Amino acid sequence: MFIQIGLVPNTEWLKGSMELTKFGEIVVGPRGETSVPGVFAAGDCTTVPFKQIIIAAGDGAKAALGAFDHLIRQ
Ligand SMILES: Cc1cc2nc3c(=O)[nH]c(=O)nc-3n(C[C@H](O)[C@H](O)[C@H](O)COP(=O)(O)OP(=O)(O)OC[C@H]3O[C@@H](n4cnc5c(N)ncnc54)[C@H](O)[C@@H]3O)c2cc1C
Repeated sequence: MFIQIGLVPNTEWLKGSMELTKFGEIVVGPRGETSVPGVFAAGDCTTVPFKQIIIAAGDGAKAALGAFDHLIRQ
């Protein structure tokens, strides 16, 4: 038996507060921005196409810079 784990993002609690895909992934733009202004997301729980460690790490940096860029423009 092969048990595969880790495909369902733990985003149930976000339902109704921001845009999610039918798989529960947080929909993000190129800067990690979500459908809620000022809220950014990164990593496997988002619509980033490939779920790998190095991609999630880079995605975190991108979302942090996206948040910084958002704040500095306020
Ligand atoms: C079995 C398996 C094998 C894998 N093998 C590889 C591999 O060989 N190479 C590779 O590159 N990638 C691999 N991956 C993928 C890699 O693990 C992920 O891409 C990476 O961990 C994603 O990082 P993340 O920070 O986005 O999410 P995660 O590492 O999943 O971190 C999310 C964190 O948020 C926490 N969390 C969740 N909900 C809440 C909440 N409500 N409140 C507070 N905290 C919360 C979780 O406990 C977790 O610590 C594998 C994944 C699995 C499941």
